[in-house]
Amino acid sequence: MKKKVHKIGVLTSGGDSPGMNACIRAAVRTALYHGLEVFGIMRGYSGMVENDIFKMESRSVANIIQRGGTILKTSRCKDFFTPEGRKVAYNNLKKHGIDGLVIIGGDGSFRGAQIFSNEFDIPCVGLPGTIDKDIAGTDFTIGFDTAVNTAVEAIDKIRDTMDAHDRLFVIEVMGRDAGYIALHSGIATGAENILIPERKTDMNEIIDQLAEKERRKKLVNLIVVAEGDDFGGANEVAKAIKEKLPQTEARVCILGHIQRGGSPSCFDRLIASRMGYSAVECLIEGRHNVFVGIVNNRMSYIPLNEAVKKKQRISEEWMKIVKILAS
Ligand code: ADP
Repeated sequence: MKKKVHKIGVLTSGGDSPGMNACIRAAVRTALYHGLEVFGIMRGYSGMVENDIFKMESRSVANIIQRGGTILKTSRCKDFFTPEGRKVAYNNLKKHGIDGLVIIGGDGSFRGAQIFSNEFDIPCVGLPGTIDKDIAGTDFTIGFDTAVNTAVEAIDKIRDTMDAHDRLFVIEVMGRDAGYIALHSGIATGAENILIPERKTDMNEIIDQLAEKERRKKLVNLIVVAEGDDFGGANEVAKAIKEKLPQTEARVCILGHIQRGGSPSCFDRLIASRMGYSAVECLIEGRHNVFVGIVNNRMSYIPLNEAVKKKQRISEEWMKIVKILAS
């Protein structure tokens, strides 16, 4: 029989993503509904180590569902990598009587949670808050939909000028290790090429395609590149094109941090609410040390140990779609 949880802590950790606030709100209100006490932990694991922890009420999360970022703030915490740091964090949780944690973050945050929950008797539930959608065990992550829509809106605008001037544009979107933002925004904006870290980039093939298009007088070309592509991002791609095809006007635009911010989409607010609610239900029902996701529109629960080992993969079907639709 798993022990009962009475006081839970909520934190956001690692990279921020739009919808984290909606998730905090759902976790806090669900916990209060069940008569639990709730504590907000500031700046991810840093707040645990530094005892920056405060009691939350229903009104603590009023008027935040529509806001990007996270009211609990987030950080990368070096101390949490050490056993001594985690011990201090544990003692601080004990001071408040916290006996369960809801952790909203990326795979790094879950690795921390997994180690912590193995060392100490504090059940943890992890929720995927990341714009990268690179976590296995869930079809969606909180913030991806908003980020990809921000990218699509920006690329559509660039396409207007690209079209007016018959130019080639190389647009870089976020994704150091994961190509989902590039893949989805590229397909949604009709990109001719989409370059992602999960697939090796064949620049010679791209140059050949561009040369052939030039012969056909098709000068408008959109290349969407994930920042972590093995060829080296938008600047490197444009440089290689200019070297091989000097007559081509290749412009670069790096979308950068605008993709992280902004008001979460309706979809992100909904999944964040559903996941925040489910995380608290898990803690109450004794489903401990799990990662909560949504698969085929149903809640999915996998042990944290397994969640940290896998990455969400990009299917060959998507790559085929890119090729066929761009021809
Ligand atoms: P994300 O959660 O977005 O992937 P990070 O990889 O930066 O972001 O992880 C967030 C935090 O989780 C780190 O700053 C650290 O405090 C904690 N963490 C990550 N990996 C580990 C680990 N192996 N051991 C302990 N803590 C970790």
